[in-house]
Order: sequence, then structure tokens, then C-alpha cells
Amino acid sequence: EAKRYGRGTFRCFMPRMLDPLSGRVSLESRLRRALEQQQFHLHFQPQAQIAGMRLVGIEALIRWECPEFGLINPAQFIGVAEESGLIVPIGAWVLHAACQQMREWQRVGLPSFRIAVNVSLAQFRHGNLLDVVDEALESSGLNPHDLELEVTESLAMKENEYLVRTLAVLRERGVAVAIDDFGTGFSGLSQLQRFPVDRLKIDRSFTRNVAKSDEAATIVRSIIQLAHGLNLHAIAEGVETGEQAAALRDLGCDEIQGYWVAMPQDATETTRLLRSGSIFPGNIPA
Ligand code: C2E
Ligand code: MG
Ligand code: MG
Ligand code: MG
Repeated sequence: EAKRYGRGTFRCFMPRMLDPLSGRVSLESRLRRALEQQQFHLHFQPQAQIAGMRLVGIEALIRWECPEFGLINPAQFIGVAEESGLIVPIGAWVLHAACQQMREWQRVGLPSFRIAVNVSLAQFRHGNLLDVVDEALESSGLNPHDLELEVTESLAMKENEYLVRTLAVLRERGVAVAIDDFGTGFSGLSQLQRFPVDRLKIDRSFTRNVAKSDEAATIVRSIIQLAHGLNLHAIAEGVETGEQAAALRDLGCDEIQGYWVAMPQDATETTRLLRSGSIFPGNIPA
């Protein structure tokens, strides 16, 4: 049943018969109310440069604190938000909240890193993404160079002139672009050639096996070489063990993100972590 909604494990799993969220209409109206009543908030997950295990970024991940069902992960509602168009106002909220939080971290004088925000195709098509990004940057006072947008590979590989042009404009303004879940969308490499990006995020399905399967390691090595050949950075997501981190380092990966590096946490916890200065678990095993 969980598979129906997407990948991953859920902190909050309800058997189908008891799950009022499974009704699309009710979920849609609940999402609408959630937006009005500010039930969304962000969790933040650090991204580390492997060399020196230095903090280089933080990804903002939406959470829904549902009064009836508790904390709900995006896998359970982003799909419906996209289909219903609600992702446009929800996505705008995410951008504003993420930029605002980032600016606050900068104000207390923390070392510089970027904030990464996930965006959906509908936000390009129907959402005036350029205007929304401008507004979020302006109202927060954040520098465009401190913002990165993550678009999934399947989205990136759609033949879409408008998408490519919008990303090109954003990059001219200094906003970085990452392709999320890279390696799962069987990208036409010709698309990648014309797609204006800065970073490839190696999908968790490859990271999972990188230390124990030659095939996975070969794929990861190829993605890293592809990234470097195109002058892009490679970051691996879903790093859960020191062995995976070591394998990724040995394959030349630039950056890592995952539970082994740091869990996604709310703003208060993330601030505490940032202030403590000891964000990471220590050194990658030899
Ligand atoms: P994603 O952008 O690929 O984000 C990575 C997901 O993997 C997150 O799940 C994160 O909590 C989880 N994760 C991080 N480290 C590990 C690890 O070591 N092991 C495992 N197993 N998982 C790890 P989350 O937060 O549930 O988000 C799921 C997806 O929902 C995201 O995948 C992204 O595609 C989407 N999403 C999240 N926030 C937003 C948003 O604000 N807007 C849009 N459009 N999509 C969002
Ligand atoms: Mg992402
Ligand atoms: Mg991803
Ligand atoms: Mg992924």
C-alpha cells in the first residue's frame, strides 16, 4: 500500500481502510486547509563536502503537521498537490520559508552554505517560478547565489523549452540548479547537454549498494565522471553508513547527504546543530 504513494518509509503509516487521506478529494481539501492554517513546516538536512567534511548546503524538506493524523511526509501528499495544482501555492510558501530561514542563519553569523529547495514541474508551467523566486529572494534579502533549486531527473528530461529557458534565466541571476534522483530517469544524455545545471544528485538507490555491489559502484563512478566531464558537482543522497561514504570518496564524489551525515530536523534543532559547530559524525572511515 505504501508503494502506491511513492518510495520510502513513512513515519506515519495508516492501513488503507482507516486512512482518510487515501481519498483524493478529502486530501485535496485538507491540503488547502493546511495551507490556510499554516500546518506546513520545513525540515532541513545538511549536505557535506567530502573533502574536510565541511557543510556546503542544507536541503529544505516539507512536512505537514496534520491536526488529525500527526506528522505527514511529502511522499503522501506531493503527488496530489501536483495533480491538483496546489503545489503552486505550497511551493511558493516553501521558497519563502526556506529563504527566510536561510537569511536568519546568515544573520547570526554562521559560515556560508547554500539552501536547496525542491521544485515541481507545475511550478514552472503554472506558477511563475521566476517571479516567486525573485519575491522570495527580495523579501528575505537572500543573495541568489545562496539558493539552489532541485528538479527531478524525470522533470528535467521532459522536452520543455520553457523549463530550460526559465532555468537558464535563474542561473544567470546566480541561482544554482541540481538534478535530483539522477540515474533513475534514464536521461537522454543529449537533454543533459542543453540543460543548464550545476550539480547531479546521485539517487539513493545507487548509494544504497555502492559499497557492496560492483555494478552499483560502476554506475556511481560513471555518473561522477559524467558530472565532472560537464563541469558539474556530484552529490550522493541517502548515505546511511560510513562504508558508503568511504566508497563515494574513493570514487571521487564531491558531496554527500544522508542519515549518516545528518538527519533532517526542524529549524530549532538545525539551528542548535549549526551553532554547536559539530554537525557531522566525524571522519569517513579509511
Ligand atoms: P528528495 O528531494 O530526493 O529528498 C530526499 C528524501 O530522502 C527526503 O525524504 C529525505 O528525508 C530522505 N532521506 C535523506 N537521507 C536519507 C537516508 O540516508 N536514507 C533514506 N532512506 N532516506 C533519506 P522526504 O523528506 O520524505 O521527501 C521525499 C521527496 O518529496 C523528496 O525527495 C522530494 O522529491 C519531495 N519533496 C520534499 N519536499 C518538497 C518540497 O518542498 N517541494 C516539492 N515539490 N517536493 C518536495
Ligand atoms: Mg531533493
Ligand atoms: Mg533526491
Ligand atoms: Mg531520491
